[in-house]
Amino acid sequence: MNAASRDEILAFGTATSEGPATTPGLDAWRELPLRQAPQWHDAEAFEAAVAELGQVPPLVFAGEVDVLRTRLADVAAGEAFLLTGGDCAETFAGSTANRISARVKTILQMAAVLTYGASVPVVKMGRIAGQFAKPRSSDTETREGVTLPSFRGEIVNGYDFTAQSRRHDARRMVQAYHTSASTLNLVRAFTQGGFADLRSVHRWNQGFLANPAYARYEEIAAEIDRAVRFMDAAGVDFEAMRRTEFYSAHEALLLDYERALTREDSRTGDPYATSAHFLWIGERTRAVDEAHVDFLSRVRNPIGVKLGPTTTAADAIALAEKLDPQREPGRLTFITRMGAERIRDVLPDLVAGVRDAGLSPVWVTDPMHGNTVTAKNGYKTRRFEDIMDEVTGFFDVHRQLGTHPGGMHVELTGDDVAECLGGADVVEESAFAEHYESLCDPRLNHQQSLELAFAVTAALAH
Ligand code: PEP
Ligand code: MN
Repeated sequence: MNAASRDEILAFGTATSEGPATTPGLDAWRELPLRQAPQWHDAEAFEAAVAELGQVPPLVFAGEVDVLRTRLADVAAGEAFLLTGGDCAETFAGSTANRISARVKTILQMAAVLTYGASVPVVKMGRIAGQFAKPRSSDTETREGVTLPSFRGEIVNGYDFTAQSRRHDARRMVQAYHTSASTLNLVRAFTQGGFADLRSVHRWNQGFLANPAYARYEEIAAEIDRAVRFMDAAGVDFEAMRRTEFYSAHEALLLDYERALTREDSRTGDPYATSAHFLWIGERTRAVDEAHVDFLSRVRNPIGVKLGPTTTAADAIALAEKLDPQREPGRLTFITRMGAERIRDVLPDLVAGVRDAGLSPVWVTDPMHGNTVTAKNGYKTRRFEDIMDEVTGFFDVHRQLGTHPGGMHVELTGDDVAECLGGADVVEESAFAEHYESLCDPRLNHQQSLELAFAVTAALAH
C-alpha cells in the first residue's frame, strides 16, 4: 500500500495553478449566510493577507488528496479504519519539533496497536498543520466585568485577555500558513524519512513500564518486532516499511483562508483546497444552504461533516446530496459526536436512514465533543469513561445495523498533560492547575490515547 501510493503520487505530478482557482461558483458562498466569521478590523491588511495567500505554494498536492480519497473509499467499504487525532486548537508557539513529533508518534503508536491487534489497515490523519480556527458559542467573553471578543483560534486572534490581543488580525492567516508549512514539513520528514519505520515500534514508547498502557504497548511492540524479524529473515523487502502515509486535516471554518489557498489541478482543472488533504465542516456551520457547505461542495478534497445529537437522517441525506451528488466512494465522511448518554438513542435512526437512502459514507466517531463537562474547579474537561462509553456505543450501533464503524476522531496530545479525567493511570482534577495546557478543549494525554487504542482494537477485532 505504501510503496504503491508514493509512486501514484509521483506519477500524478505536482503542478497546480499559480494563483487561486478561478472555477465558476467558488465564490457563491459570499452571497450566503456565513456563521462564525471574523470581523477583520483592518481592510487593507485583510486584502494584503488574502493576496499573499493567493500566491503561496500549496501545502498539499492534488494527487495526494486523490490517493486519500481512495483510502477513504476502502474505509467506507469496511476494509480499513480511519484514525484522526490532534489538538483541539494548534498554537503557533506550540508548533515545536518536540511537540509535533510527540503527537505524530502517539498517532503512529495507536495505529500500530490497531493494525496489529485488529489486522486492519489504518489510515492515519492528524488534526495538524492547519487546525487554527475555532468556532465559538458566544462572540464575546466576560471576565471580572470586562467583555472582549472571544478567542477564535490563533489564525484570527490571540488568547491573552486584552483588547489588543483579541482584535481580529488578518495577518495571522499568513502566519498560520507558514506555521502549517513548517509543521507539515516535519510531519513529512518523520513519516517518510525512517522515523515511522515499523522496526522502530519500541523506540516510540515513552515513559515507565509501570504505566499499564505503556506495558501493554511494550508487549505488542515485542510481537511486532518478532514478526518483522521473521519477515526480514524470510527476505521481505523492507523499503516500504520505512515510510507511512500520513494525512493532514482541519476544520474548514475560515473561508477567506480556504478560498485563497484553493488551486486548480493541472491535470484536470478541478479546484482543490490545498491547505490540507482533508477538511471538515463543524457542527455549528453545517447548515446545508449556507456558506460553508456551499464552498466545500465545490472542492475535490474528501470532506467530513460533524453531526451532533439533533441531526436527523433527512439532514444527513440533504448534506450528502449537496456535498457528494455523484456518490463517490471516499468523498464524504460523517463524524458523529452525540455524547455517551445519547448515542444509543440517536445514532441508530440516523445511520439506518442514511443506509436506507443507499448512501455509504465513512462513519467516524468523535467521542470528545458530546462529552464536555465543567469540573468542580472550573476547568472544561471530559471523563475518560464517557469517551470510552461513546466509542462502545458507536461500535454497538454499527454492529447492530450491519454498517461499518469506520473510524475514530479524537483530541489528543503526545505530552503528559492533565485535561481529561480518569484513565488507568488516573488523572484527577487536582492536577489541572499545573498540567492543563489546552487553549481550547481538553485532550487525551499520551497514555490515555494508547489506552483508547487498545479498547478500540478489542472492539474492532471481533
Ligand atoms: C472541534 O472539532 O474542535 C469542534 C469544535 O467540534 P464540533 O464542530 O463537533 O463541535
Ligand atoms: Mn474541540
